[in-house]
Amino acid sequence: MTPLERALRERIAAEGPLSVETFMEACNAYYYATRDPFGAVGDFTTAPEMSQMFGEMVGAALADCWRRSGAPEYAAYAELGPGRGTLAADALRVLRAGRFSGEVHFVETSPVLRDAQKQAVPDAVWHETIDNLPDRPLLLTANEFLDALPIRQHVAGTERRVSGAAGGLAFDRDGEIVETSPVRDGAVRAIARKLVANGGVALLIDYGHSRSAPGDTLQAVRGHRFMPVLADPGEQDLTSHVNFEAVASSAQEAGAVVTPVIGQGEWLIRLGIEARAQSLSRANPDRASDVQAALERLTGSTQMGELFKVIAIHAPNWPTPGGFA
Ligand code: SAH
Repeated sequence: MTPLERALRERIAAEGPLSVETFMEACNAYYYATRDPFGAVGDFTTAPEMSQMFGEMVGAALADCWRRSGAPEYAAYAELGPGRGTLAADALRVLRAGRFSGEVHFVETSPVLRDAQKQAVPDAVWHETIDNLPDRPLLLTANEFLDALPIRQHVAGTERRVSGAAGGLAFDRDGEIVETSPVRDGAVRAIARKLVANGGVALLIDYGHSRSAPGDTLQAVRGHRFMPVLADPGEQDLTSHVNFEAVASSAQEAGAVVTPVIGQGEWLIRLGIEARAQSLSRANPDRASDVQAALERLTGSTQMGELFKVIAIHAPNWPTPGGFA
């Protein structure tokens, strides 16, 4: 039994079954607080860990938007759940080359990952919540952050819960599942409020669907394989598909402007990732096949190109970032 399972069983014995939301929140808080989960020897690999090109495209899109908004000096780069800080380091290289000299602000709860982020971006400032980000125009990005926030599941209108069972944990009901995520909606509203109040733009990148639909999308990954969701609590990464329709309406409710949701592949290609791949390959011919493989992984329709999606949220008086139309 994992240490977290022991704690959850005690909690269930005292308080009764836990909502899926409480379970997922507890599992991910423990999971991220106790390890760096990324890379070949870890549990999963994210886009910025596959290739520097990903962060460079994010940086180029933000730099262009910042320039078109009048290049405000007091704007800051902000990132939610920056992982190892790789995306920030790659994006900031491009932003700095474009004369952006603003501060860097991270929202991160894991002490282990804060240490890793400090290696990659030593001058960053850390925050516990989105609301604590500074009141400045923000060039904000979040990759695979929203998918880690807890969801609720409902079966026939009743919230699905997790209880103790012989040899493990079990769901209290099965059937057609409808998912909601008040925590995720709240995070998106918090981002949108900041942008509306102070200016700025957010690029939210994640796996998910463009339209709301019933279905069980909660999944567990460990060692690059799917695992049973309730197995080994706290030792595997729990995520769910992001409902981008809900993201868009939460942002609009808070007064922000949203772009259409588009595939990561289409977005990266419109931003010029193919030309970047060619120039990286010409500069390092011995790495050309790695660059080509990363390009295919990030943009290919059977790889990350379509399942992963991008939406931009911006202040009404800020320009729409490139790549969407
Ligand atoms: N963006 C990175 C990491 C994605 S993993 C990448 O693409 O590689 C999810 C990240 O979100 C981790 O850094 C994790 O510690 C952080 N995270 C998860 N839940 C969080 C929460 N509630 N508040 C702040 N950060 C959180």
